[in-house]
Amino acid sequence: MELAIEKIIEGKHQLSDIAEKVVNGTRITRDDAIRLYQSNDLTVIGALGEYARKKKAGQDKEKYVYYIHNMHLNPTNICGETCKFCSYANPAEKGKAYMWSVERVLEEAAKGAALGINEIHMVGGLTPAADLKYYETILKEIKAKFPHIHMKAMTAVEIEYLADREKISYEDCLKRLIAAGLQSMPGGGAEIFDESVRQRMAVKKTPAHVWLEIHGLAHKLGLYSNATMLTGISESVENKVDHMLLLREQQDKTGGFQCFIPLKCYYEGTTIKGEVEEPTGYDLLKDVAVSRILLDNFPHIKAYWIQLGEKIAQIALSFGADDMDGTIGEEKITHAAGAMTPLQLAKEEMEYLISQAGYTPVERDTIYNIKHVGGSGDVQASASSRTSELAHAK
Ligand code: SF4
Repeated sequence: MELAIEKIIEGKHQLSDIAEKVVNGTRITRDDAIRLYQSNDLTVIGALGEYARKKKAGQDKEKYVYYIHNMHLNPTNICGETCKFCSYANPAEKGKAYMWSVERVLEEAAKGAALGINEIHMVGGLTPAADLKYYETILKEIKAKFPHIHMKAMTAVEIEYLADREKISYEDCLKRLIAAGLQSMPGGGAEIFDESVRQRMAVKKTPAHVWLEIHGLAHKLGLYSNATMLTGISESVENKVDHMLLLREQQDKTGGFQCFIPLKCYYEGTTIKGEVEEPTGYDLLKDVAVSRILLDNFPHIKAYWIQLGEKIAQIALSFGADDMDGTIGEEKITHAAGAMTPLQLAKEEMEYLISQAGYTPVERDTIYNIKHVGGSGDVQASASSRTSELAHAK
């Protein structure tokens, strides 16, 4: 989508004042973000998202779209929580509940290592058997066997659960996991911060202030993390904007968020199917564009292909997204809820999707060091390194 932003401003469009702010680098307000959501001019909203993405990336990287060669590990789907939108945990058919031994987790990690992955994204349900010791052992063993694999693991929800069970502070819990091998945190468990939505969805875990506190602590301890927003769970436009504003505020304070990931709920196997309005493709693209414009202090916005599907993820790249996530390997959570996307994309397929959308595929590591630019046949090494930037900045 190529629409000159100057034309939007000159044309006295209903969003011209917001376009001016995007060009001038002025922060947009809550009301501006709500107006973006209320507008039906998807082309203009997308053009603003694309402009903001390019500006953030800088001229030499304005076509870059990142991906990572990774795998997901979900050691257990047994969970004591009751979130109504979750069909991954506590499956009705009891035979499907599982809790992996440490050995089984290591076997799965070895399969990923054999495929050449450089990141493991590990999250699981909340259950007494998966305690702090269990995760410390997994982290230590994986790092001992595969030191080159980056461990992105443990949502804020899991940190809260483990710390409460051990009767230790969140900070001490994080320190123990970091000592065992934790290197960054995923952004899951944020859902929608608004309390009324959480109550309707029976979300008892990790209220907004705790989720934000744990990420702030992680940033102070030198970890990067991500942040998510789950839509299609009866939230309003205002709830989404307020969710992002809390993240923007936290990022101003601690600066360790790398990426924002808008997610959509899948309903298969949940009790809310038919009760809530399902986001349309239009809504999903607006989430990408508005987040790119509103979250001016987030380096990256993700088009999470496993949830959006490959086709909408491709379009989202011209709405402000600059990351397609990973090749993923095995993923259980979204697929338990009915996602029909493949379980794994080959690197070549990922690069093809990005190139075909008119962008340059860039393989990255977890913290956005560049591994190579261009398709597999067009490798260019890059020596950028941000490894200790954050820790040093604190
Ligand atoms: S969303 Fe997370 S905390 Fe809630 S039931 Fe599912 S696994 Fe448990």
